[in-house]
Amino acid sequence: MEFNKAQNIIGIKVLSDNVIWLWEKDKSVVVIDPSVHEPVLKYIDENNLYLKAILQTHHHSDHIGGTKYLIEKWPNVKVIASSKDKKRIPFQNISVEDGEILNILGEEVKIIEVLGHTSTHIAFFLNGKNPILFIGDTLFSGGCGRIFEGTYQQMYSSLERIKSLPKNTLIYCAHEYTKANLLWALNLKPEDQNIKNKLLHVEKKLSFNELTIPFLLDEEMKINLFLRAKNLEEFAFLRANKDLWV
Ligand SMILES: [Zn+2]
Repeated sequence: MEFNKAQNIIGIKVLSDNVIWLWEKDKSVVVIDPSVHEPVLKYIDENNLYLKAILQTHHHSDHIGGTKYLIEKWPNVKVIASSKDKKRIPFQNISVEDGEILNILGEEVKIIEVLGHTSTHIAFFLNGKNPILFIGDTLFSGGCGRIFEGTYQQMYSSLERIKSLPKNTLIYCAHEYTKANLLWALNLKPEDQNIKNKLLHVEKKLSFNELTIPFLLDEEMKINLFLRAKNLEEFAFLRANKDLWV
């Protein structure tokens, strides 16, 4: 188990490359996409926390796998998920839509629909002085989610939506894929100094067993080829190219 303390959000690395985020405030905690339950319960117990809510970005099992066990232990927990996916996220008890604003741990949290990876994927945006985005599998550092259910156009529009957020938004994605993504990007743009510098920085972090996420939108726009794509065609070329990259 690895931790990355940034503000009051802690990342627990689980499975091969998933990261579960725990957002803490005044002894309450909100969990984002619990793929598994044991390390989450352990952290809650060790720190004497109260589990208030579970935020689900989409239905994949490596995002909701731990939820039913957390509900068994915390029957009053709020499970917040897309109203369009009640079948595949059946334990949701607060169903939300694009643009809806909730109050979670005293903060305004806006729901942003980001389709493409799945047909109902949502993100959670905290628009404070230091904005925060829980983006699930739509954007990764150096990469973006595979298009499993949506279209290239949907994913491209989702990335455009992310790019329109404040540049100082700190982005929390659900997988530690950064190094592999950067190696792919460098294969396409071998002379790109921004990507080279980022890879060095990432390798250093990994050598200390640290997470390479969260990441700042502003910096990400310099090194992420998907965010740099100037039009849908360029984006589609990159996505198809990345799908074939092993
Ligand atoms: Zn997924």
